[in-house]
Amino acid sequence: MLRCNSNFFKKVKDFLLYLFLPDTCYGCRADLPMGACGPLCVHCQTHIQTPGPLICARCGKPLPDGGAHCYHCRGSKGKNFKCKIIRSAVVFGPQVRAVVHAFKYQDRGYLSGFLAERMAQEWDNYPPLSQAELLVPVPLFYKKEKQRGYNQAALLAEKLARLKNMAWDKHTLKRLRNTRSQTELGREGRLQNMQGAFVCERPEAVKGKVILLIDDVATTGATLEGCATALKAAGAKKVMAYTFAREV
Ligand SMILES: [Zn+2]
Ligand SMILES: [Zn+2]
Repeated sequence: MLRCNSNFFKKVKDFLLYLFLPDTCYGCRADLPMGACGPLCVHCQTHIQTPGPLICARCGKPLPDGGAHCYHCRGSKGKNFKCKIIRSAVVFGPQVRAVVHAFKYQDRGYLSGFLAERMAQEWDNYPPLSQAELLVPVPLFYKKEKQRGYNQAALLAEKLARLKNMAWDKHTLKRLRNTRSQTELGREGRLQNMQGAFVCERPEAVKGKVILLIDDVATTGATLEGCATALKAAGAKKVMAYTFAREV
């Protein structure tokens, strides 16, 4: 009886909340229907695109005109990367940008469930990901994590590890400094900015293993390359990366 009552009161509370404070879509700000799952309305969800099938075999950049590799990964250049492949669940379009922005900058860590579920849904598009033995989130500098209250990449890695029944480790990789904001830096500047920015503190956790780096967004891949360099130096067998979104 008590349970019936508490269910009833919860329904009334949810209804009143919906009436006076409805959730709105992060993409278009329209009211979401009561009990909606996720932060986007049905209309905005249909605008989310996946990167494939025409993508760079190394960095995952969409290649509308086809070809095996993008300009930066072609020929001998591609072989030098420590991060062997980068794959992403979705393209960083306006609706995805709105959700990721809220997730990172507006204290909406709970959105990690929505993002990680989408990453799990798209996982099978990329067979090489199944080689991964350990998920490692891209770390934030400790001051930044303290300020934000969480590391968004660690939330994604934790949820994705649970969905895929895999191991994850947020203590092995550390960010040594608060790298300059990368938005004004060009591609080479970004790669340089990340040189020596990360260190693997527990080499025994990664030695001989295939590591999958997890992050929210891949842009040039410079941050992922910085992480992969540290993991390879610590003895990782192979490093790949999987992000929620891919900037194009
Ligand atoms: Zn919408
Ligand atoms: Zn590429």
